[in-house]
Amino acid sequence: DVLIDEKVDFSGLMLSSDVLEGLKSAGFERPSPIQLKAIPLGRCGLDLIAQAKSGTGKTCVFSVIALENINLAVTLPQVLVLAPTREIAVQIKDVMCSIGRHLKGLRTHVFIGGMPLEHDKNCLKQCHIAIGSPGRVKHLIESKLLQTTSIRLFILDEADKLLDENFQEQINWIYSTLPTSKQMLALSATYPDHLAERLKNYMKDPTFVRLNAADPALEGIRHYHCVVPAHSLPHKVFHEKIQSLLQLLSKLSFYQCLIFSNYQIRAKNLSETLAKNGWPSTYISGSQGQNERLNAMAKLKEFKCRILISTDLTSRGIDAERVNLVINMDLPRDSETYLHRVGRAGRFGSYGVAINFVADGKEVTSLNEIEASCGVTITSLPDDVSKLLS
Ligand code: ADP
Ligand code: MG
Repeated sequence: DVLIDEKVDFSGLMLSSDVLEGLKSAGFERPSPIQLKAIPLGRCGLDLIAQAKSGTGKTCVFSVIALENINLAVTLPQVLVLAPTREIAVQIKDVMCSIGRHLKGLRTHVFIGGMPLEHDKNCLKQCHIAIGSPGRVKHLIESKLLQTTSIRLFILDEADKLLDENFQEQINWIYSTLPTSKQMLALSATYPDHLAERLKNYMKDPTFVRLNAADPALEGIRHYHCVVPAHSLPHKVFHEKIQSLLQLLSKLSFYQCLIFSNYQIRAKNLSETLAKNGWPSTYISGSQGQNERLNAMAKLKEFKCRILISTDLTSRGIDAERVNLVINMDLPRDSETYLHRVGRAGRFGSYGVAINFVADGKEVTSLNEIEASCGVTITSLPDDVSKLLS
């Protein structure tokens, strides 16, 4: 395994026996590099900015710090975790509960839009760790359902996303309601300049834990492109891409595959065309209801579908272990989104392949730009793709 040092295990990190046992039961035998570095610092109470590529185990970093931090006898929220999407929030809860399984009476709840408020109200009667999306958490604090007086650990997962223009106002507001004295953790796979700048508003003297900061390329992932002829009609180009995709899928031996498009309508059409050609897929989109989205994610995780088609909704943080193929039907709009998308393949040190369909001309130029700014090498597909994933 490329990520794990065989000589160290969690027992050297001064964790409580309950958490140690929990890690073991969750199948976490040895810490990943970011866990090894960040957990002890976080346990010391330092404000941390932890950056490491996707799939390196950042959820476990803050879950352990959170679990070691709570007083089970107090049933008010003591840890508040914010995540940019509902799916990530649910996933964080699963990890917290898994590692925290030996903490008797531990109450961890997820607060996300689309769930009835009455449900949240009940959960908040007893809650140690609150995990949620900024919108719903803000609403719950505003309506005095979520009490913030006991919060002493504030966590931003996917911090770069949470501090972009869409969320910043909500985060500011939530932050202003928290006690002044608290610890704060911010985790991110990328480290854009604006992140440090914005985190300065919240953290006084943060400690940085950055892994492979100089080389954000995702180890274990190979990047390819497939060029289709340019056409003045975008749907013609997309049609060409789909034809190439169908040929590829029949030759590749992948476990599970994520396909991204920038447009909901294209994603939906693609899903239908694939089905007609014998490739059933699941489709996830922001226009779906909460349950539909969670179902789609669950299907992927439980291996009930092999292909998930998505817009950028799932490009962050979603952990699907057996995805080893990511396909971009449309290029992402920026290099960070590229890294987030392809980071879905090759989770935790396994190998994966990313394939980018581009139309000759402008799209090839954009691809070259992404290649340069991500520091990855994107080559053309080999003639024989059958061994690409073996
Ligand atoms: P990140 O947030 O950095 O993108 P995740 O926290 O989602 O990564 O973890 C990625 C995958 O690695 C998950 O499937 C998780 O269960 C697994 N994982 C994390 N830490 C360990 C560990 N110490 N040992 C084994 N598996 C781990
Ligand atoms: Mg994560």
